[in-house]
Amino acid sequence: MIPLSVPNVTGNEKKYLNECIDSTFVSSVGQFVTRLEELVAEISGTSYAVATSAGTTALHTALMSVGAAAGDMVIIPSYTFIATPNAVAHCGAVPWCVDIDRDSWTMSPEILETELREKATARDGHLYHRASGKRVAAIMPVYTLGNPADMDEIQRIAKKYELPVVADAAAAIGVGYKQRKAGSLADVTVYSFNGNKTVTCGGGGAIVGDNEAVMTMARHLSTTARVGSEYDFDMVGYNYRMTNLQAAVGCAQLERVEEFVDKKRAVRQYYENHLQGLDGISFFPKPVWAESTCWFSGIVIDKKSGMDIRTICAGLRDMGIESRSFWKPAHLQQPYRNVEKSSMEVTESIWDHILTLPCSTGITEEELAITVDAVKKVIQKA
Ligand SMILES: *Cc1c(COP(=O)(O)O)cnc(C)c1O
Repeated sequence: MIPLSVPNVTGNEKKYLNECIDSTFVSSVGQFVTRLEELVAEISGTSYAVATSAGTTALHTALMSVGAAAGDMVIIPSYTFIATPNAVAHCGAVPWCVDIDRDSWTMSPEILETELREKATARDGHLYHRASGKRVAAIMPVYTLGNPADMDEIQRIAKKYELPVVADAAAAIGVGYKQRKAGSLADVTVYSFNGNKTVTCGGGGAIVGDNEAVMTMARHLSTTARVGSEYDFDMVGYNYRMTNLQAAVGCAQLERVEEFVDKKRAVRQYYENHLQGLDGISFFPKPVWAESTCWFSGIVIDKKSGMDIRTICAGLRDMGIESRSFWKPAHLQQPYRNVEKSSMEVTESIWDHILTLPCSTGITEEELAITVDAVKKVIQKA
């Protein structure tokens, strides 16, 4: 079976893990946690980084650090992984879902602006959702598949409405935007190092940013909100720390981030070169403002072709190739079915037509050729 995406742990992972065990530094204090934070800040171009136990806990911490609290609303694109709305809900807030752009699959600045203009009112230095009276606490764009959202436009709107921007860049480590590094695009940016991401710690996450007060709060909240060296705590904190074991794997992975991202991009290019012209399919979007980190590669099945992704997926499985559908939008998920939302024209037209194909960073040229062959056969039969 050629797997969809498996971790590539052929570097210094084992060596660094052994160092943790030999030194007994296996928990949340240790040189690898510090080193990982330095590496992530450097890659992002930010002054601060805080490592966390997961991407979801990083998102929750980041939202709390910019002031999102119970009863608030946070604006997200509906087309995202469930962790995005979940992090909002973990704050006691509710998501306000907006549609995405067809050319990037990221939050549509146009729809964001229309939603705010039509449904929100500023009062006493805050912005409120008119129908519910809830305060709008933040805008959280998602860097879909490693494509940053159009952050200049989103920042322009955020400034106009005086809202902080928290970027869910879960799978976008190593990306840039108009020649700038990723960390400078939002007030706070969040990564995931889950097992299926390009860079993994097994599980883990990180928060990066330049605002000292926000980042100090992020560290404080994620490390139990302790003050001093005794058992004193000044807030309801969280044990969201990354362990030195996770960070040991992460450091070994980050040493190879450029190589991994280059390989992901090469995989996408391979599929484009070899599947180009096949009837009824197209590829994932390429926005003009950035070069995606190509977390996943795959194809979009043309609605008019009448082909169903599940049939194609089953056909590929029979030929020894793992493929998979992609995110089901937040507003179609049980816990979020009643949230405020814009029209969802683009989201609803694409989400069930996306098929991700094998794209591990360790995939060989031969495996790619076998996959391409199988895709052609299955599509021509479908
Ligand atoms: C993976 C992912 C997350 C969650 O990260 P975990 O580390 O699994 O908690 C959040 N948002 C997006 C867009 C993701 O792809």
